[in-house]
Amino acid sequence: MGLLDAFGEALKKKKSTLADKDYKCPSCGTKITLDMERCPQCGVRIKSMFRKKCPKCGEMCELDAKICPKCGYNFEAEIARARKTIWRCPRCGYEMDSLYTQCPACNIRLM
Ligand SMILES: [Zn+2]
Ligand SMILES: [Zn+2]
Ligand SMILES: [Zn+2]
Repeated sequence: MGLLDAFGEALKKKKSTLADKDYKCPSCGTKITLDMERCPQCGVRIKSMFRKKCPKCGEMCELDAKICPKCGYNFEAEIARARKTIWRCPRCGYEMDSLYTQCPACNIRLM
């Protein structure tokens, strides 16, 4: 009765915390983050316990996989693309991959 309800609540909570990127060690339940290599409590390898989903084919790949073993999707290229910020000169529209103090194309001062 009460116990089952509590169990149901725990399951619901588990789901919502997973969505919040709040991870627990699958082995001992210690709170962890995915950038940890091993659980600080029990030493289990975290990266082999969790998987990331290939956005192309849906295959569950190892977290540190660079390429999807199924379809060859390149995770690193995607990360690089997501991180890249393009700065655009307000005067001439020249695209810079980092923020310069001066536009290399028209020499307008940017900072
Ligand atoms: Zn653990
Ligand atoms: Zn794939
Ligand atoms: Zn410019």
